[in-house]
Amino acid sequence: MFLRLSDEQQEIRDVVRKFARQKIAPQAERWDEEAYFPREILEPLGEMGLTGLLVPEAQGGSPQSRLTGAVIYEEVGQADMSTAVWLAVHNMVAGLIARFGDEAQRHRWVTRMATGELLGAFCLSEAHAGSDAANVRCAARRDGDDYVLSGTKFWVTSAGVADIYAVFARTDEGTGARGVTAFIIEKDTPGFQIGKRERKMGLHSSPTGELVFEQCRVPAANRLGAEGDGLKIALSSLDGGRINIGAITTGVAQAAFDVAARYAQERQAFGKPIAGFEGIQFLLADMAMKIEASRLLVYQAAFKMDEGEPASMYAAMAKCFASDSAMAVTTDAVQVLGGAGYVRDWPVERYMRDVKVGQIFEGANQIQRIVIARALLGNVATMG
Ligand SMILES: Cc1cc2nc3c(=O)[nH]c(=O)nc-3n(C[C@H](O)[C@H](O)[C@H](O)COP(=O)(O)OP(=O)(O)OC[C@H]3O[C@@H](n4cnc5c(N)ncnc54)[C@H](O)[C@@H]3O)c2cc1C
Repeated sequence: MFLRLSDEQQEIRDVVRKFARQKIAPQAERWDEEAYFPREILEPLGEMGLTGLLVPEAQGGSPQSRLTGAVIYEEVGQADMSTAVWLAVHNMVAGLIARFGDEAQRHRWVTRMATGELLGAFCLSEAHAGSDAANVRCAARRDGDDYVLSGTKFWVTSAGVADIYAVFARTDEGTGARGVTAFIIEKDTPGFQIGKRERKMGLHSSPTGELVFEQCRVPAANRLGAEGDGLKIALSSLDGGRINIGAITTGVAQAAFDVAARYAQERQAFGKPIAGFEGIQFLLADMAMKIEASRLLVYQAAFKMDEGEPASMYAAMAKCFASDSAMAVTTDAVQVLGGAGYVRDWPVERYMRDVKVGQIFEGANQIQRIVIARALLGNVATMG
C-alpha cells in the first residue's frame, strides 16, 4: 500500500485546488442561496480534462486512475459539494456510454460529453425504487425500430439542466433485475418532460428532479447495451461512484475543519482564544482524525480498484465511513463556531446541510453496511 501520492498526482491536485479555490469556492455561497446551477463552469472544467475522467483518450477523454479521480473530487468537494456531485454523475454517465456504447453512440455523444459541451444525468431511482433499485417500473415497450417509454424517474441529479439522460427502464415485466434496459435519451425528445424540482435541505446548486415519460418514442439505436443488461450497466458504476462520494465528503469535512480551526484561534472567550480550551482542542483533534482516516480509506479503495483487486467492500467502507465522518465533522464545526456556525455568514451550516445527503445517496449507509457484512460474513449475513 502506497503512503504518498506520485509527483504527477500532487501536480494535478494543486492545479485542481487552485481552480476550485479561485473559480468555485468564492461563488458557492451565492449559488446555494439562489439555487443557481453554474453551467458556465462546465466548459472550463472540460478544458482541464475533468469532464472526461472515465473516457479513453481515443474518444476525446482525459482518463485518470480512480486514485487520481479521488484526489480531484476531494478538491472540488472542498470548494463546493454541489459542483462535485453533478460533475461526478456526469463523468459516470460519459464513462458508461464510452464503455457500453456502440461506435455510433460513442461518436454521437461521448467526445462532446468529455469536453464538457454536453452534460449527462443518471436516471435509475423511482418513487418506490431507491435502495431497491431492481424494482424499477418505468416501462420501455418495443415497437418496431423504436422503444416507447412510459413512467417517471425520481431524484435525478441535473434534471432539467442535463443534455443526455441515461435512463434505466423495464423492458420485461417478469424478469426482475434482468428485465431492465438502459437508454440514452436526449433533452427535448418528444414525450419526455422534466417534472417537479425538489426543494432540498442542501446541495441547492445541484438540481435534483423528476423525469416524466409519456409515450416517449426513442429509436432502438439509443439503447445502451443489450436488452436486459440495464441493471448490470448501472451497477457497474457503483464501486467507483461510492469512492467518489467518499472523496467528496472528505473534501467537505476538510473545508469545515479549516474554517473551525481558524475560527477557534481567533475567537476570544474568557480572555483567551477558544482554541486554548481543551474542550475545543479535543473536538478539533477528533475532527482531524476522522478526516485523515476517511482519506486513507478512500485512497485504499481507489488503489484496489486501480489494481484490479476486489474493491466492493472497501468502496462501501470508504463511502460509509467518510460520509458518516463528514456529517460528524461538519456538525462539530458548527459547534466550534457557536452562534456564528448557525448562520449563513459562515459556510459551515451549508457544509452540514450539503453533506447529509452523502449518507443517503449512492447507496444509503445502511446498504453499505449490508455490503460490508456480506463480504465479511458470507452466507450467514444473507440469511433471514
Ligand atoms: C440529492 C439526491 C440526489 C440523487 N441523485 C440521484 C441520481 O442522480 N440518480 C438516481 O438514480 N438516484 C439519485 N438519488 C436517489 C438515491 O440514490 C436514493 O435516494 C437512495 O438510493 C435511497 O433510496 P430512497 O430514497 O428510496 O430510500 P429508501 O430505499 O426508501 O430507504 C429509506 C431508509 O431505509 C433504509 N433501508 C432500505 N433498505 C434497507 C435494508 N434492506 N436494510 C436496512 N435499511 C434499509 C435506507 O438505508 C434508508 O435509511 C438521489 C437522491 C438524492 C437525495
